Amino acid sequence: MKFTGIAASPGVGVGPIFRYEHEELAVRDTTVPEGAVEREIERFHAALAASHADLSSIRDRIARELSEAEAEIYEAHLMILDDPELKRAVERRIRRERRNAAWAFRTHMAGVATRLNSVEAEHLRRKSADILDVERRVLRHLLGEHRTPQTPDQACVLVAHDIAPSDVALLDRDRVVGFVTEVGSRSSHCAIVARGRGIPAVVSCRGILQQARNGAIGAVDGFLGTVELDPDEETVTFFAARRRRIEEEDRSLLTIQAEPAVTLDGHRMELGANIELPGEVDRALSVGADGVGLFRTEFFYLNRLQLPSEEEQYQAYRDVLERMNPRPVILRTMDLGGDKVASYLGAVHENNPFLGRRGIRFALEFPDVFRAQLRAIYRASVHGKARMMFPMVSNRDELRRAIELCGAARAELRRAGVPHDPDLEIGLMIETPSAVWMADVLARDASFFSIGTNDLTQYTLAMDRDNERLAHLYEPLDPAVLRSIRHTIETGHAAGHWVGVCGEMAGDPKNAILLLGMGVDELSMACFDLPRVKSAIRSVRFDAAQAMAREALEQPTADEVKRVLHRYVDTLLPSYLVAKKANPA
Ligand code: PEP
Ligand code: MG
Repeated sequence: MKFTGIAASPGVGVGPIFRYEHEELAVRDTTVPEGAVEREIERFHAALAASHADLSSIRDRIARELSEAEAEIYEAHLMILDDPELKRAVERRIRRERRNAAWAFRTHMAGVATRLNSVEAEHLRRKSADILDVERRVLRHLLGEHRTPQTPDQACVLVAHDIAPSDVALLDRDRVVGFVTEVGSRSSHCAIVARGRGIPAVVSCRGILQQARNGAIGAVDGFLGTVELDPDEETVTFFAARRRRIEEEDRSLLTIQAEPAVTLDGHRMELGANIELPGEVDRALSVGADGVGLFRTEFFYLNRLQLPSEEEQYQAYRDVLERMNPRPVILRTMDLGGDKVASYLGAVHENNPFLGRRGIRFALEFPDVFRAQLRAIYRASVHGKARMMFPMVSNRDELRRAIELCGAARAELRRAGVPHDPDLEIGLMIETPSAVWMADVLARDASFFSIGTNDLTQYTLAMDRDNERLAHLYEPLDPAVLRSIRHTIETGHAAGHWVGVCGEMAGDPKNAILLLGMGVDELSMACFDLPRVKSAIRSVRFDAAQAMAREALEQPTADEVKRVLHRYVDTLLPSYLVAKKANPA
């Protein structure tokens, strides 16, 4: 049986299914004999201490492997656990009512959750999920169930309705060969963490839990976003061949790791990596990136309970800049709103969030929050080669207001004698049709353009990028998008600026050749794609790519553009870059 979801993290994995479910921990209301009360209280203290030890070690591991921001949720769990009232209330109940520790503890936590659920403030209501998490952890210790989160003891494909990003961060990479969820999108935090950790994943696979039996075989295709349950032998062999081929490709691509992305006739292209979390820098370096072309900084603001401080952001940006130095790092300022909302910032319901308070609009509505980020970026800028760009700009006033806030942040730092790079380059993402058509005006205030083709496609074609029902129509090769890209490149170059592309399109070898031929100066993509795109660029002549781009731009439909690409590229690129990723041959 085949399911189609959203390709969330590249790679393929086949293995027995492990259903990942929130277990129901059965707690019985029993009384404790008088002589056993103190022992029951000791058991409770021991469970608290063990939970404390679990949480501290998880927190440290996540801070080490991912980031301090990611680890923060565990800090909150530790605070819940350390609440003196919790200890007092549960002890009282065990002593006075002679109830067993698990029952007394659950009753107390249920009361706390109910009180939180009834309050108006959204950020407090969200805490009830944390209360439940802590409750489960302590109960597992009290009831003798120590493994957390559930860990399969053999290689498996994990299938869940949903999985918390912090749990993805804990998954054993050697055991979990892939995971599938029923909800979520490519930009869900769990998908982002999966990509960062290199675990193949498919999300939004509706109804799969109804069919997925524990132990049955599941085959996950994180490129195509498909999952097969009980695949036949042929499919299993097919997947194994693909995995071997990807591994071989990775090995052979290592030989060009230190080489530049230069065409056969000597035209150089900058290749940047897209990262979401500071911990992904190591991978960017190992795949031979010339820099970070897109650092999606908004992930600092998500999945946490309160605003990240300026200091925390400064440390994280500094760390990325130092490790990438002397390679450039483009920090995209917070692209919140749309599908990336932080409820503690007072996110409100919007009918069309992608057309709502998103990107630079969001930042300008929260000038204090934005200011802290800008100060952190400027402070970090002396530790490497930083650039900054704004997301989703749709008119000149937004750009000017953002630049003014940069000026104010610089002035504050200057007055306080804080080191910063006053000449930090400021660019903008071109991802709205209005930005395309006002590019000449915007170019007067910016130093570079980075085209966000994910959003530019969605806004140009009026097609929701996350709507799986439109996936066959959502197409960056649509002539309307290509003409927008061409206009942006020509306008940027006329103003003396470099122009990059950092949407997913840049990570496809064929599309990358098209963009090269169109005159793009820089491409930024997921780490997995970078060596493949580099290999493609090193296999072609620039003049051939230009000829292909000229012809592609004359086509009336995306299908005809694709035919031109196939015709040229099939003869130019190594076969493994041309074959569809689905094809093992
Ligand atoms: C884009 O829109 O192409 C882009 C790179 O930004 P994001 O995917 O984060 O919206
Ligand atoms: Mg975008």
